[in-house]
Order: sequence, then structure tokens, then C-alpha cells
Amino acid sequence: MSTPILKNYVNSAFVDAGCRGLLDVENPSTGAVIAQVPLSTAEEVDRVVRTAAAAFPGWAATPVARRVKPLFELAERMRRDEEGLCRVLVEEMGKSLPDARAEMKRAIENLEVACGMPMLQQGERLVGCSFEMDGEVLRMPVGVFGMIAPYNFPAMVPFWFLPYAIATGNTFVVKASEQVPNTMQRIFEHLDAVGLPPGVVSLVHGDRVAAEALVEHPDVAGISFVGSTKVARQVAARCAATGKRFQALGSAKNHLVVMPDARMDEVVRNMISSCFGCAGQRCMASSAIVAVGDATYRETIDRFVAASRDVVVADPLDPRFADEQMLMGPVISARHKDYVLNMIDVGVREGATLALDGRGLTIPGREGGHFIGPTVLTDVRPGMAVHQTEIFGPVVVILKADSFEEAVGILNDHPYGNGASLYTQSGYWARRFKMEARAGMLGINVGIPAPVAYLPFGGTKASAFTDIKAQGREVVSFFTESRIVTERFWPEA
Ligand code: NAD
Repeated sequence: MSTPILKNYVNSAFVDAGCRGLLDVENPSTGAVIAQVPLSTAEEVDRVVRTAAAAFPGWAATPVARRVKPLFELAERMRRDEEGLCRVLVEEMGKSLPDARAEMKRAIENLEVACGMPMLQQGERLVGCSFEMDGEVLRMPVGVFGMIAPYNFPAMVPFWFLPYAIATGNTFVVKASEQVPNTMQRIFEHLDAVGLPPGVVSLVHGDRVAAEALVEHPDVAGISFVGSTKVARQVAARCAATGKRFQALGSAKNHLVVMPDARMDEVVRNMISSCFGCAGQRCMASSAIVAVGDATYRETIDRFVAASRDVVVADPLDPRFADEQMLMGPVISARHKDYVLNMIDVGVREGATLALDGRGLTIPGREGGHFIGPTVLTDVRPGMAVHQTEIFGPVVVILKADSFEEAVGILNDHPYGNGASLYTQSGYWARRFKMEARAGMLGINVGIPAPVAYLPFGGTKASAFTDIKAQGREVVSFFTESRIVTERFWPEA
């Protein structure tokens, strides 16, 4: 069978992309090429954005109740195809099937929230804002929005934005990650079936050339970017320079703080899933554990390392392991595997103790896969490269703090601030953590404090360059511009 070549979705049709060439898309568990993705040119992006710009006035003038109707149907279709979508996602990304199902549920949940746009987009009216005058705030759609996606959540991350953008009356162009483009291609088959007018949603495949063309395009009003901080910074700077709205969500190093009173049986189970789910490639994955006090530090290391040894590492589509809850698949590519292995070497060179070494792992029958076993570095101190850098693989560093204050200081001094969690039974420490920890999303006895779609999602410090977070009610402000009207009428003559 020949390798499928993906197509762009423009003006309600799947079309051959104007491209600079094709890139192989791999199954990271086997190394097999499963598709080829076109690397769209800047001219192709221009063509796509023009169709989106042409569709905007008609779509913006469509009543909001009509705009959400196709989203109800899309949610239904995606729910019916959930298992098929999950298999496509797992094949190209390598996370476990239970993880893929959780991702798909969150994508659908975002659709459901956006279906409430007739309520969410309502403005305000102040009767009598002055003598015989009324004031009104209208939430107006803005124009064409672009979304640039990372590889680790090929379905969910674009859905932090897409349903809200179109429900509010904008048109929307997705640039999927070139490493995992198949999932969005399949979702667009469903989008195609729900009868949106041509140009309301578009899919453009490609790499940084296509992404940069989207960011630079004069007809694009705003960009939602999710990916590494290095690129997020550039996107934010370019959008600011060209007068665009932007949300640029970046990298993370999420800390888990373990207090001496924590319930260790539950905590260890929770930390394992937080650190090694999705092979450490979740934006909310924890990769730094800070244990408070000598005894907690020793117990955390002993129990966490022992539990890490039990994590099953396998091809997530191997039927023998498909329903294993704590299964760890491969990292995304050979290149990323080399980077993660190099970071383990760096940790050892800078004086950390390799308490569990996941290097050198091969899975029989999957020799071409990019597997790394759970890896734990202890005796890590703040400032070491393995603590400062996002490794984005199954590598956990464990640090010791002498007090709650020192532990919170360690995470507050870190450049990233996406998520952080505290394990304690004490309401006092929990409250102090909520008041003092500088991360956008906090957990109390919850190792992956990823907010549900009804609440905003996003970090702080170098993990997010934006004032408006993703998903939920909050993102409606990003996709609408408030127009404030002050009005009065003279008495009839
Ligand atoms: P990446 O930054 O390498 O790529 C992300 C996207 O940016 C891709 O679509 C890529 O084609 C595009 N891109 C590359 N160069 C660009 C440029 N110069 N201008 C504009 N776009 C460009 O990230 P990745 O490796 O795909 O994803 C992993 C990263 O994403 C990790 O750092 C992870 O923490 C982060 N992430 C963050 C969140 C969050 O909520 N903060 C969520 C998911 C992933």
C-alpha cells in the first residue's frame, strides 16, 4: 500500500497543497512511515488566509445560534468516532490509548462549552450611564484567527481555540504540528461533514515556513500558539510588532511539593502517572519533585524509584497492553530521544545521582521505536541544567527542601510557571500554596492540575505570553473585541 499524502482543507475541500516538499510522518513506536505531510509554502498560506478573510463578513453576520449548530453535530460525530480518532492519534504520537481517550474527551468538552456561545458572548448594558443616556458593551467577532499547534496533544490543544473562535463569528486557520498531522486531518473530515460555509475553518499543513507566514499575514487578526517557549517568544514578539492579538503558550517544568504529612501511598501513585504518562511529554507533566525534610526526601526517593520500576513501557497499540492504565509509550522522534538521553548525561556530569536509569531500553519487536525507560535523578539542586531545562521526556529530578518556604522558593525562582502541585493533608499549607506559588495552574493533592474546559488553561512567567488564557469563558475575550456604545435619543419634535 502506498503512503498517504495529506491534503490541506481550503474552501470546504481537501486539496493538494502548494508545497516545498513532503515530510515523513512516523509511528514513534516502530519507526515506520505512516504518512507524508506537505510543507506548505507562504503562497499557499496566503491562498488559505484569503478564503478565510472572504468568509468572515458572512459568518460574523450569521446568528450565533446558527453558528453553534454545526458544533453540536461535530461533538456528536467525534464522540461516535472516538475510538477511531484515538487510534490515529496513538499511532502518530505514541501516548497510551487511555491517555488518548482522555485527550479526546477534553477536546469534545471544549466543543460543548463553545456550544453555549449564545450565553457566553452576551454583552452588557448599563441603563442610565448618564442623564438620559445608556451604555452598552458589544462583543464583536474580529476576523481571521490562526492556530499553531504542538505535537503532544494533536486533538485537544487546537480545540482550546477552534470551537470558540468560530462560535464567536470569526474564521479560523489551523497549522497542525508537522510531526502529528493525521489526527487533525481526520477531525477535519468531520468538520467537512457538518456543513460550515466555505472558508470558516481551514487546515494548512507545514512546518515553520507555513507557521511564520500565518503569523506575518496582514489579514490575520490574531494567533493562538502553543509549543516551546523559544518559539512562543518569537511569535509573541512578531504579533506585537504587527499589531495582532496573541496567545503564546510555552514550555514547562512542573513541580510537585511533598510535605511531611502527605498520604504517601496515594501520593506515589499520583506522582507516577503525572511524571510518566505520555512519556513525560504533557505540558502539565511533572518533572521536578521537591520533598520537604530529610525523612520525606528519603521516603519519596525510595518509594518513587520502586514504583517507577513497575511502569510498563511498550507500544501502546500492542493489544497485550492496550488497556494498561499506566503504560508508557515512546518519545516522539529519534531526534527528541537523543536530546533526552543527552540531558540525562548532563545531569550525571553536573553531579546528580542516577537513581534509576532508563537508557538503553529496547522493546522486542519494536527495535525502531524511540523508547526510554523511567529515569530518576536525585541529589539535584536548583540551578543545575537538569532542573532549569524542560526535558520533556520520562526523566524526573528530585530535590530536597528544608521547609515549605524553601520548596515554594525553588518553584517560584524557576523560569517556567505552567503548573505546580502540593501534597499535604493540611489546609494551612494548602492555602499558603495557593497564595504564594507562582504557577498558572495549581493542584492540591492533584498531580496533573489540568483544568476542565469550563475553566481557563494557561501558565505564567516564561510558560505563557498572553493576558488571556485558553478555553472556557476566558478565551471568548480573546476572540471578541468589545465595542462600547454610549447612546441617547432627543425627544421627538
Ligand atoms: P515547537 O515549538 O517545536 O513547535 C510548535 C509549533 O510551532 C509547530 O507547529 C511548529 O511547526 C511551529 N513552529 C516552529 N518554528 C516556528 C516559528 N519560527 N514560528 C512559528 N511557528 C513555528 O513545540 P513542539 O515540540 O511541537 O511541542 C512541545 C512543546 O510544547 C513543549 O515545550 C511543551 O511544553 C509545549 N506545550 C505547552 C503547552 C502549554 O499549555 N503551555 C501545551 C502543549 C505543549
